[in-house]
Formats: sequence, C-alpha cells, structure tokens
Amino acid sequence: MTSLLGVVGHPLGHSLSVPMHMASIFTLGIDYVYLSFDILPEDLSAAVAGFRIEGVKGINVTIPYKEAIMPYLDSIDEHARIIGAVNTVNNDNGKLKGYNTDGIGYIMSLKEQTGFSPLGKCVLILGAGGAARAVAFSLLEAGIGKLIIANRSVELNMAEKLASHIKPHFPGVHVQAMPVEHLPSLPFQELDLIVNATPVGMKHTKQQEIKELSGLLQPGHLLLRSDTVISDVIYNPAETPLLKTARLAGLKTHNGVTMLVYQGAESFKLWTGIEPPIEVMRRAVLHALEEVH
Ligand code: NAP
Repeated sequence: MTSLLGVVGHPLGHSLSVPMHMASIFTLGIDYVYLSFDILPEDLSAAVAGFRIEGVKGINVTIPYKEAIMPYLDSIDEHARIIGAVNTVNNDNGKLKGYNTDGIGYIMSLKEQTGFSPLGKCVLILGAGGAARAVAFSLLEAGIGKLIIANRSVELNMAEKLASHIKPHFPGVHVQAMPVEHLPSLPFQELDLIVNATPVGMKHTKQQEIKELSGLLQPGHLLLRSDTVISDVIYNPAETPLLKTARLAGLKTHNGVTMLVYQGAESFKLWTGIEPPIEVMRRAVLHALEEVH
C-alpha cells in the first residue's frame, strides 16, 4: 500500500513542500506520495482524526496551524514544546507525535552554507514570531552566548515576551529585547550573525517596508565586521534585498531555501527513517520557485 505524507495549512496555494518531497520520493524510488491538504480552521480537528489512519505516515504543518494543531496530538517532542509550535507530525500506529524541525533545519543549513559555528556567538534576530522563536531556541541550544531580539510591535511587546520565555531555559545567556527603531544604536561590531525572521523582503513586499527595515540596518552595514553572517529565513525570493546588499558588501549570506530544504529533510527522516537527497530537494525547490512563484 502506498504510504501517505502531506502538508496541512490554509491557504496553501502552490506549496513548495510538495515538489520538494515528491522529488525525494521519485529519486529514492519508494512507495510514498506527498499531498497538500488545504483545510479550513473549523475542519482541523476532523482532518487530524483522518491523519491517524494506517497509511498516513506523517504530516507537515504550516501557517496558520503550527500552534493550533498541538491540542489534537497525543504527544509533543520536548524541543517543539519549548518552541510552542509544531511543523511536523509523525504517525506511529495511530499515535500522533508533534515535532518542530524548523530550528534544526535552520542550524544545519546555516552551517552548510556559511560554516557558522554558534558556540559563544552574538546574534541579532529581527522579528519575534514563529520563525524567530524556532531559530532563537535552536541557536541557544547550539550554544550562542548573546541574543538580541528586535521587533516592531511596541504594544504587544513580542520581543520582550519572547525574551522572558527564553531566559528561564538559558539562564547563562545574555538575552535582550528591543524595538526595531533602536537598531541603529547597536554595537554592530559585536554581531556575529544577523537573522531576518520577518516577512519583509518576501516577493511582493512593499518597497517602503523593505526601505524601512533595511534603512535601520544601513548604518550597521558600514560598521559590521567582514566575518559577520547575514541570514534570511525567507525562501521566495531565494536572494532577498537584504541578502543582496550583504553579498555586494562582501559578507557571507544564508538563505531560507536552504532552511526549507533541511527542515524538510529532518521531517522526511522522522517519517521514513531514510536520509533524503538534499541536492535533489534543493533543485526541486529552486525549480518550483522559477516556475510558479
Ligand atoms: P509571524 O509569526 O507572523 O511573525 C512575523 C514577525 O515579523 C513578527 O515579529 C512581526 O512583527 C514581524 N514583522 C512583520 N512585518 C513587519 C514589518 N513590516 N516590519 C518589521 N517587522 C515586521 O511569521 P513567521 O511564521 O515567523 O514567518 C516569518 C517568515 O519566515 C515568513 O516569511 C515565512 O515564510 C518564513 N519562514 C521560513 C521558513 C523556512 O523554512 N525557510 C520556515 C518558517 C517560516 P509584529 O509583532 O510587529 O507583527
């Protein structure tokens, strides 16, 4: 019987996960299929019940269900529980366990693309949403020494909230929250890694938003050390305006396509126990980005 994998979200549009995982499945010649499930919020519970049946091996979870799916699962892996979001569900004989592979995908891809070694390093993360949370916890688990989280929302104070959530788990690490407007006052020379974990720079982002965010970093570009790595979790486009500026300034860059591929590879290993072909997955994503997006 063909085993079923898939991604659940809403709206899904042309999910890159489908061509990425189908490319792996074809290359490996295994009897699996990976489908997309565009599910309305009111149907999520019924959909999860359907994922328990024999034959469904695993599911990816994307916006807006990474948190909403958690109460419907039988257990949650410790790393995903601390992050507070699940992007992968594994079906073990009808028992559903939630994982989060975004962070490990981030760390593995960062290492592959730039050789960055997190131990003791100073990191600035822009944004305090789901991606920022996964990236922050994984970098902290990998041993960074200092984390600065900059976010725009002053009212909700998302950066403060994330910093307070992190501190008890990593008491020895210096964690600081700040509004994005204060970025120009940062000691940029100290930074080893800057991560954009906001959607600013995605295809169709308003030029004004890009200008506002990169404008705040502009003085920093001039003062950054030449070995500072600039990273962006956005995968469409593969090279965002921030990464282009950094590349032209001679800095090392890391993009969201590689992160997407490695988080997918980690999910694939959980479901099948098989090491997937990274290069095939990467080519499939880049091809799909050219074709559809
Ligand atoms: P999210 O939970 O909605 O968080 C978005 C964050 O960006 C929030 O902190 C938000 O601040 C901030 N932000 C939004 N617009 C902004 C603007 N114009 N200026 C400054 N800050 C702004 O979203 P998410 O799930 O973290 O996703 C963020 C990005 O990561 C998306 O582009 C997504 O595609 C990407 N992602 C990539 C991967 C991958 O594998 N490569 C995996 C996951 C996510 P406020 O609090 O002020 O709203």
